[in-house]
Amino acid sequence: MPEEMNPFKIAQSQVEAVAKILKLDDGMTEFLKNPQRELHVSFPVKMDDGKYKVFKGYRVQHNMVRGPTKGGIRYHPETNIDEVRALSMWMTWKCAVVGIPYGGAKGGVTCNPKKLSQGELERITRRYASEISIIMGPDTDIPAPDVYTNAQTMAWIMDTYSMIKGYSVPSVVTGKPIAVGGSKGRNEATARGCVFVIREACKKQKIDIKKATVAVQGFGNAGSIAARLLADMGAKIVAVSDSKGGVVNWKGMDPKKLIEYKAKTDSVVKFPGSKPISNADLLELEVDILVPAALENQITATNAANVKAKIIGEAANGPTTPEADKILYKNGVLVLPDILANAGGVTVSYFEWVQGLYWLFWTEDEVNKKLEGIMVDAFESVYKIAQERKLNMRQAAYVLAMGRVVDAAKLRGFYP
Ligand code: NAD
Repeated sequence: MPEEMNPFKIAQSQVEAVAKILKLDDGMTEFLKNPQRELHVSFPVKMDDGKYKVFKGYRVQHNMVRGPTKGGIRYHPETNIDEVRALSMWMTWKCAVVGIPYGGAKGGVTCNPKKLSQGELERITRRYASEISIIMGPDTDIPAPDVYTNAQTMAWIMDTYSMIKGYSVPSVVTGKPIAVGGSKGRNEATARGCVFVIREACKKQKIDIKKATVAVQGFGNAGSIAARLLADMGAKIVAVSDSKGGVVNWKGMDPKKLIEYKAKTDSVVKFPGSKPISNADLLELEVDILVPAALENQITATNAANVKAKIIGEAANGPTTPEADKILYKNGVLVLPDILANAGGVTVSYFEWVQGLYWLFWTEDEVNKKLEGIMVDAFESVYKIAQERKLNMRQAAYVLAMGRVVDAAKLRGFYP
């Protein structure tokens, strides 16, 4: 992999850039650039044909000065240690920006879930969970779902860990099914958090959300729910897309009908009353709000100057490249960066963990109200830093997040 594409190198260079703004010394910068703890595991699993296969897995804990570590587990054929290291680092900043008491972690197993039976997936998960149980726990490191893992995977991990302990430990993972201690509102949390910060950004930009037009790239979990919640606030959803293509209708489309249509046909393409639009053209529509909710590297140096949206709410991780960021900032587009805009998911994961520790479960209304408070506070803090220090919102979010980690590290001091 070329150096500039290596996600760990990218994550490290982001730290170096913000370390300069924060005037950090070399020792502190080096501390933040490297994961504190890494576990590499190789483990055998009996496959359906009776043969044993050995899988490689990782769990990386980037930083633990603000509390236990938190982050998802990814099952993917291309998952590797540098990807997991970068993702763990980004989790540290995401947790710090919303002020929840965690450091970042991430896990991965190199495998192709599309070619595994449910039984094989369960055996891989249980063996991986027992391998990482030496560093995982409700007080140390709390996994969650990520790419190709889900609530069922978390239920297996929770059960495996509980079997090792001899009693149920729901707070060892989040993103569990509600029947085994999951939180109400978790499924919608990423989109809901994103919509709260978009709403606050509209106030700053003097955009009336009731009259705003919206385009959403990636009509999946995060994108479709964000569209629904924005429409509930009165905004007009004029374009949406998925991996098969996009649709546009300037009169506005009902997200609930789009969700039903996609459930039936597997895509938003040919939604009644709409015209087709490519994923690339969708990004350049003359809308007030653009929500990238699909993949990385969608807004680049090539198309950033053509983006006409006034606000970009990054539901996806990494949809905007650093070069595009500069162009958007120059053109006055307010970019709500991923570590802020999609932090609602980990925030409600934190609520799930707290509920599990107390064995006391909240109503959906309580969850949503607490989420709103945290997201609005985080937005205000980032916006203030951006204004005062003349930074873009991403730089400001990193300044806030890294500053919080550095403060905690300095107050604790380095042992011994
Ligand atoms: P998802 O799989 O439910 O949805 C992804 C959507 O993107 C699908 O509709 C898919 O068809 C579409 N898509 C795929 N390739 C595309 C392409 N080339 N162009 C346009 N659309 C394309 O996933 P999700 O959970 O909604 O996650 C979406 C993004 O949000 C990811 O970047 C993810 O990391 C980020 N995110 C999600 C959560 C969460 O809690 N779900 C939390 C934090 C960040």
